[in-house]
Amino acid sequence: MSVQLGMPQLPVGAGTGSGPLVPPPRPAGTPVGLWDRYGRRATDMRLSLTDKCNLRCTYCMPAEGLEWLAKQAVMTGDEIIRIVRIGVAELGVRELRLTGGEPLVRADLVDIIAGIRGEHPDLPISITTNGIGLDKKAAPLKAAGLTRINVSLDSLHEETFAKLTRRPFLDRVLAGVDAAWAAGLGPVKLNAVLMRGINDEESPDLLAWALDRGYELRFIEQMPLDADHGWTRRNMITAAEIRGLLSRDFVLGPDPRARDGAPAERFQVRRRDPKTSEAAGPVLGTVGIIASVTEPFCSDCRRTRITAEGKIMSCLFSREEFDLLGLLRQGASDEELAERWQDAMWAKPKAHGMDHTGLGAPDFVQPDRSMSAIGG
Ligand code: SAM
Ligand code: SF4
Repeated sequence: MSVQLGMPQLPVGAGTGSGPLVPPPRPAGTPVGLWDRYGRRATDMRLSLTDKCNLRCTYCMPAEGLEWLAKQAVMTGDEIIRIVRIGVAELGVRELRLTGGEPLVRADLVDIIAGIRGEHPDLPISITTNGIGLDKKAAPLKAAGLTRINVSLDSLHEETFAKLTRRPFLDRVLAGVDAAWAAGLGPVKLNAVLMRGINDEESPDLLAWALDRGYELRFIEQMPLDADHGWTRRNMITAAEIRGLLSRDFVLGPDPRARDGAPAERFQVRRRDPKTSEAAGPVLGTVGIIASVTEPFCSDCRRTRITAEGKIMSCLFSREEFDLLGLLRQGASDEELAERWQDAMWAKPKAHGMDHTGLGAPDFVQPDRSMSAIGG
């Protein structure tokens, strides 16, 4: 059985017809760029290359997978390169993250990166991946112009890894992480989602392992973006709990570097002396915590998202999305596409509303799209 990818309801400006979603135009005189009504400007672009994936992480996908998009519904390499060009050259995008689904399953990934790099020699281009196949692809990706990599790794134990991802591929992911480092794709960042009773107790060991190897680990609070709709506030591990779990072995102190709109709050990490409970020894590295649910950073959000089928999402939790690819395929000019993108971002909500209401409260409704179908 496959699960249908639900489409958002309540589109802004879409009326009740079934035509393409069109955002209401922003007021005349709005400056050029991906501005919203609250004075934020998106300069960080997250672009999803595919909705497909070879894992089934419990917090993201259902066991049976999702119904994949038809090939012709997904942006081609040339379309992606054009959309990035408009974002960078016309609208002030300064950073690009390629994601999915699993970006490494795209056969033309190296060509896409080479194509983008050819037009934007200085653009930081990173990728978020589950690491499967990275052992072979890290060097070609680096040669094509990829700047950096984020690999998702929730556990160092085969059994726990398989429970979380529903696949026995831990070795492949670890080989991928090593290859990324060896290929010069550092600093390698690792993303971990903690699930209560499954991998939460492992978190200090995971951090020790990452620090030993010079990887920057970031813990992400589980968000209500799983296709199974199994998220509960009570069961999620909060940022405060993560700090508590890590304090078993470590003392976290503030990181002096400016956060600068980054989703992760970074901490400097030192060993905890078990006798005194005080910090002992030098700073070993940093750890990040992305507390989207309990300590949201919406007021400083700088992200704009494009789904694999070329829809603009102004927020991970948007229930509104606007079609860029359809317009492009109708023959729209770069100026028209830039207008659509700016109008869509103008409609960005002030905040996701989860922090104070909780799921199920009237002003927060879980989006129909799962994380893999948005591009996390
Ligand atoms: N497949 C790639 C991967 O796993 O890195 C890229 C796409 S994945 C959707 C991007 C990131 O979103 C991963 O780090 C994953 O752990 C995270 N993620 C997925 N579902 C999540 C959820 N419900 N809450 C928090 N993070 C989630
Ligand atoms: Fe796939 Fe990434 Fe979602 Fe896991 S988190 S199922 S690897 S898209």
